Formats: sequence, structure tokens, C-alpha cells
Amino acid sequence: MFYNFKGLKGLLLFMFFNDFQIVLQEVPGEISLCFTISGCPLRCEGCHSPFLWKEGNGQQLTQQIFKNMLYKYYGFATCVVFMGGEWHQKELVENLRCAKTKGYKTCLYTGLDRVDDEVLKHLTWIKTGQWITHRGGLDCKNTNQKFIEVKTNKILNHLFIKN
Ligand code: SF4
Repeated sequence: MFYNFKGLKGLLLFMFFNDFQIVLQEVPGEISLCFTISGCPLRCEGCHSPFLWKEGNGQQLTQQIFKNMLYKYYGFATCVVFMGGEWHQKELVENLRCAKTKGYKTCLYTGLDRVDDEVLKHLTWIKTGQWITHRGGLDCKNTNQKFIEVKTNKILNHLFIKN
């Protein structure tokens, strides 16, 4: 599945986040600042978070708010994770670039199978694939989703599977 969001430009002006958490499991071995972005257009059947479908839910993720978070957790957190946001490519890329400049690793969780190279080149890891209920998530052997180290293109799903 590859969506082209270019046609939506102009409608989706600003990136809003519905939730911010410090997470340990989304990127194995990292303490991550996790921003969940509103306005997901993918509409996966069985979506666990349909409240994220509405654009503009939550708070605008301004550059100032984002930089403050990076500054506040510098030396404690090691990675920044975006749950979605590829539909705001320009802002997403700016934020990823900013996080990398401050020494953070970066990750995107997307429901797409691939994203634009302009986004990919700023990522350390990417989780791809829409939610399919009967296939499950990264902790399921039968999942359609992939957790990939971008530099090597290695699939690292085994890091999520418990014995
Ligand atoms: S990508 Fe995630 S948030 Fe978006 S519709 Fe699918 S399951 Fe829901």
C-alpha cells in the first residue's frame, strides 16, 4: 500500500499530536520520546485508535514545543518515535532532522508499506504495514508488519517476539 498525500496538501496544514509518552518497548534497547500524531488517513479495519483519524485532535506540535521536549529529556532519552505523521511530510522531516541534530536516533511507525525517501533518509528505524487484526502486531510471528533498520534494510521483528 502506497499513499500519495500530495493531493491533500493545503488541507492538512499543521501537525497535531494526540499523545506524548516516554516508551521503552517501541524501539528495543532505546528510551524513546513518542509522539502520536492526529489525522491518520489509513482507516485500517479494527484500528485500535480511531480517535487518531480526526485531523487536528490534541495539541499542535510546534517547533518550540518539540525542541523543548528534546532539550528536557536530553541525556535520558535516546530516540524519538513518531506514531504516524507521514501525511505532514514537511513538518515530519523538519522534526526528524532537528532530533538527529540534537543526537537522538529516530523511528517512524507507519501503516504504509513504504514512505517517501525524503522521510526515510532521516530515520534510524521504521515500522511498516497496516494493522490487520488476524495477523497481529510485531510480537506475532504471522504479522504483515515489519520493523526495519533503515541503514541496513534488516528486518528486526525477532526483537519483539517473546519466547
Ligand atoms: S495506521 Fe494505525 S492509527 Fe492509522 S488507521 Fe491504521 S491502526 Fe489506526
